Amino acid sequence: MIYLDNAATTRTAPEVVEAMLPYFTENYGNPSALYSLGATGKKAVNEARRRIAGVIGAKQEEIYFTSGGTEADNWALKAAAEGSAYKGRHIITTRIEHHAILNTCKYLEKRGFEVTYLDVDAYGRIDLAQLEGAVRPDTILISVMFANNEIGTLEPIGEIGRLARKKGIMFHTDAVQAFGQLPIQVDELGVDLLSASAHKLNGPKGIGMLYVRSGVKMGSFLHGGEQERNRRAGTENVPGIVGFGAAAARAMDKMVQKAAVERELRDYLIGRIEAEIPYCRLNGHREQRLPGNVNFSFSFIEGESLLIMLDMKGICASSGSACASGSLNPSHVLLATGLKQEEAHGSLRMTLSEENTREEMDIVVEELKQAVARLRNMSPLYEDFIKSTQES
Ligand SMILES: *Cc1c(COP(=O)(O)O)cnc(C)c1O
Repeated sequence: MIYLDNAATTRTAPEVVEAMLPYFTENYGNPSALYSLGATGKKAVNEARRRIAGVIGAKQEEIYFTSGGTEADNWALKAAAEGSAYKGRHIITTRIEHHAILNTCKYLEKRGFEVTYLDVDAYGRIDLAQLEGAVRPDTILISVMFANNEIGTLEPIGEIGRLARKKGIMFHTDAVQAFGQLPIQVDELGVDLLSASAHKLNGPKGIGMLYVRSGVKMGSFLHGGEQERNRRAGTENVPGIVGFGAAAARAMDKMVQKAAVERELRDYLIGRIEAEIPYCRLNGHREQRLPGNVNFSFSFIEGESLLIMLDMKGICASSGSACASGSLNPSHVLLATGLKQEEAHGSLRMTLSEENTREEMDIVVEELKQAVARLRNMSPLYEDFIKSTQES
């Protein structure tokens, strides 16, 4: 099997699983308990919090554990909106956010908030002048993702942070794809709220966090006990948190080397596809791009058919985001970059890890060439196109 869907989820690293296991077996105490079995859990949770804070240059007490990236995004937007509603009801985000952001914005619109969705250019980058022009006296929150999960494009987070500071507006970034993959310093970037999720960095599924800058007024998300300093009630997911902490430490150790390996494989794969498969287009930005992201549109074919053919050869990839697959709507991200419906339908995302090899990339290119050629041979659109080129 060749796994090229690391933006959807990653393999839990063996050392992460090992770090978690004792917290299912002997160290099962509730961190809120007063006896030492509870204290062991509490200590482990705080050690994980320290490691995770370290990834983004935050303080321990600014990290709040959640059930994942989706919950962190929901919490950030809903609490920031409600908490600042007395100042205004206008929010700015982008058209290419994850559905955890977009659908939360829709929910807030139904509750009387107004949302501006910024356009992106052909590479998926927002325009800072457009952002500045969208700011109003009643703007209370800007939410722009750090890196896009479909096309890998990196947004100008530092510049957005500076603008938000200057205007006194709260700034949230969904950094689920970038956390532990790229250097992030919340103070330098001017970020007030940041979402992350363990399973995108070789940690377990079902655990994530929201960074909340100290001093930022944020309501609680879950009401109940006093866990997470009264802001997110419920007995801590101790094994998950320990796994997240181990994954964060591992990601920090490997960050530079992992990114270098992924970039090299990525550029090799992009280069070969562009050279050897006609009528394709690279989606996303060539440089401002996640190290492991490759996303192409192939004219005259359906991405879904391509996925099935690759799956038969043991290659796991994606056509857009996992959340959107299974539906026939073309990717909102690709449409926002200006692709036509049919181009967006013919797209393929391959997201690499440092465990992939050049040999695997060679196999993928060969299989892709064959699959694309076979699908095009069955396509009436392609037949018409070839005829038209022969006539002219
Ligand atoms: C995966 C992802 C999420 C959702 O995270 P979960 O932990 O799966 O809920 C949110 N935003 C982005 C950009 C993602 O890639």
